[in-house]
Amino acid sequence: MASSDELPKNYDFAEVEERWRKTWRDEDHYFDTNSKKPQFVIDTPPPYPTGNFHIGNALNWCYIDFFARYKRMKGYNVMFPQGWDCHGLPTEVKVEELNHITKNDVSREEFRKMCRELTIKNIEQMRLTLRRMAFSTDWSNEYITMMPNYYSKTQLSFLRMLASGYIYQDEHPVNFCTRCETAIAFAEVSYEDRETQLNFFDFDGIEIATTRPELLAACVAVAVHPADDRYYKLKGKTLTVPLFGHAVPVVQDEAVDPKFGSGAVMICTFGDKQDVHWWKQHNLPLRKTIDRKGKMTEICGKYTGLSSTECRKAILADMKSVGILKKQEKLQQRVGTCWRCKTPIEILSNRQWFIRIKQQEIRDAAHQIKWYPQHMLLRMENWIDQMEWDWCISRQRIFATPIPVWTCAKCGEIVVPDEKDLPCDPTLTKPRHPCPKCGGNEFTGEEDVLDTWMDSSISVLNVTGWDGSGKPKIFPAQIRPQGHDIIRTWAFYSILRAVALTGSKPWDQILVNGMVLGEDGFKMSKSRGNVIVPEELVGRYGADALRQWAATGAALGSDIMFSWNDVIAASRFQTKMWNIFRFALIQFEKDGIDENAAVTALADRWLLARLSDTVATVSARMENYEFDEALKAIREFAWDVLADNYIELAKGRLYAGDASRKSACRVLYAAYDALCRMLAPFIPYFAEECYSYLDKGSVHKQPWVSFTFDDPAARTEGDLLVKVVAEVRKYKHDNGLALNAPLGKVTVYAPHTANDEGDTARTLNADVHWRTDKAHLDKVVSGIDFNRSVVGPTFRKDAGAFMEAVKALPAEELAHPPKTIKVNGGDLAIPENAFTPKYSYVEEGAKVDMITVGDVIVTVAGKE
Ligand SMILES: [Zn+2]
Ligand SMILES: [Zn+2]
Repeated sequence: MASSDELPKNYDFAEVEERWRKTWRDEDHYFDTNSKKPQFVIDTPPPYPTGNFHIGNALNWCYIDFFARYKRMKGYNVMFPQGWDCHGLPTEVKVEELNHITKNDVSREEFRKMCRELTIKNIEQMRLTLRRMAFSTDWSNEYITMMPNYYSKTQLSFLRMLASGYIYQDEHPVNFCTRCETAIAFAEVSYEDRETQLNFFDFDGIEIATTRPELLAACVAVAVHPADDRYYKLKGKTLTVPLFGHAVPVVQDEAVDPKFGSGAVMICTFGDKQDVHWWKQHNLPLRKTIDRKGKMTEICGKYTGLSSTECRKAILADMKSVGILKKQEKLQQRVGTCWRCKTPIEILSNRQWFIRIKQQEIRDAAHQIKWYPQHMLLRMENWIDQMEWDWCISRQRIFATPIPVWTCAKCGEIVVPDEKDLPCDPTLTKPRHPCPKCGGNEFTGEEDVLDTWMDSSISVLNVTGWDGSGKPKIFPAQIRPQGHDIIRTWAFYSILRAVALTGSKPWDQILVNGMVLGEDGFKMSKSRGNVIVPEELVGRYGADALRQWAATGAALGSDIMFSWNDVIAASRFQTKMWNIFRFALIQFEKDGIDENAAVTALADRWLLARLSDTVATVSARMENYEFDEALKAIREFAWDVLADNYIELAKGRLYAGDASRKSACRVLYAAYDALCRMLAPFIPYFAEECYSYLDKGSVHKQPWVSFTFDDPAARTEGDLLVKVVAEVRKYKHDNGLALNAPLGKVTVYAPHTANDEGDTARTLNADVHWRTDKAHLDKVVSGIDFNRSVVGPTFRKDAGAFMEAVKALPAEELAHPPKTIKVNGGDLAIPENAFTPKYSYVEEGAKVDMITVGDVIVTVAGKE
């Protein structure tokens, strides 16, 4: 054991954390494919490599590391891989910004190269943060989705799902972001409340109300309710679209609300999902008025080339000038926007690739997974229930996984590469074989690329080693940890893909964490100035303090508000723990530890009983991922039980050095060892540092604490002992005595005597006697407290005489006062609350003070 001379007075987190970071080896965290231990494979979220590992990531990773370390200590073969989800628009935009180009200024391949280089640089930066935070990452299982070995799996999964009929190509209306110039999936549409204008205008004799007059050229019909008498005559007629002049039919549909506006609505291709529904239902023609860049198309006549906002203004102005705009009203509306850039989405009809959504299949698999917390399953179910459209997986971008197909120029057949030729970019290569249908040799490579979620939704297949040759040996993974913001996307798509490709659920459990909000309670954003950078925090208080904040901040699944005070409290906890451990280490050094020493003193047995309870609680909480509760139990034990009570009680015995000192050292050692191990998953640097003084190797290679101590009497009697000491100390304080001042004789009348080995006497500096007989105390009245605010106003000039008369009453009547009392020869009524008798006690002829601790009586004699 290290000498206490080497023990630093203060815990220097910066020095300690750096030293251990240099000592620890990556190999200790590698998943062992040959291991006989049970596996615990984690489907870690692959973050987007922005270069900054933000505080939300940090929270997520802290949770993962807590249970990864815990499961290792519990004897599992843990895989905690680290992925990077590289593809996507934000990197494209950044590359354009940094190089002052647009994506069209260079070749597709050159542009991809620039994106890859930026991504690699960012990943390197983020790896450093992961290491600083002491995450026990399995670096042998790192994956980068833009690398050929990963995206060839994405392509393989595409080909397999194409072959099994899950994937198809179709011209279909999809959500489209005209700023990003790409289709997006429903899950990528966010909704915002905006104020807009409802415009009432004359449509060939009937009134129509619309929020989107710019879609007038896209009008393909007018719909009315079949039972609406106002429009009975219009049945089977056509109407002329104002300003544009084309004729459209009047259709009848139950879904029209006769009470909204005039009860007649125009159907455009496409204003919203309802339009798409009617368009299909009534077999209407398609009029495309907005192109992929958000500009009005040629069928818009004089408005061609305008943006939709410009077109709206121009059409309203023209409606006014021809006198058909009747009125305008303000309207609150929910608008679907692109989740990345917030541009309102359009519904455009394009040729796209889709994945069929089989709701029941996904629902069944979701139900076979255990959700933490349970209510998150509901969110998944609600999302599944509201799915109406298939998942659009094609994107019109560049930095993404290419869709590995060609189209035969002659017959239009879709031709795919051989699986062994993956990865494949069909824009750069040609198929090996002629067209199987027509024998043609002319092909066009697919230019569309895959949605980034197509990469990340097979993360679990990748980490479990899927290569298309069947279900991997270690599939499914044990757990998926992720934020609640990506249940509709990452969780949903991952389940869909696992079921489609393997026929079973992807994980046994899913753990859903909340979001980190700024100190002001709002989502962190640059514009609010409430962003917290993990690096800054780690620099000021250390990685352990940040980790502890993450553990204690909130219950699982709840959003967590960032607070500097919580981080400071975490760093204070380490200071206090260090002081406790330092005290213990000095004791251990004096004459060594006898781990088999008999544990005799009540306080020692009590400490072990409470430690045993704590271990049980913490273990149960860890099993349920209730990290806040686990750490709370550890802290209560360390502070309340160990520091504030046990050490205070045992200190004297440890200093006195008598025979039972060995017992105290032994239990102190047990608590020290167990605390280090229980803290190891949460604050790995601190736990490692403290444990290193025991010279027993790394705490991270120890098994989880399995300590039990079955001694119910020790718990109840020890609790009493602690309470008695606390009450007598309070009595000392209330009587103006110093805590170490001598106190004479203290007698405790308890149901059992306590073998306290003199702890109570030393702690209270008193002559302490534990007795099991009943206390024989004579109660004597030692004075009377008069309530002057009652006595004064009631008796006025007779007040003095009243008080004298009361003092003369026998003790029995003081306790139960009569209704009246004789004062100056008359009977006066005794008001309520006029006085309370004061008592003192006499025990074996000596005056004593009495303290009650529940049913237990404690007397103090000879106090001076
Ligand atoms: Zn966008
Ligand atoms: Zn062909």
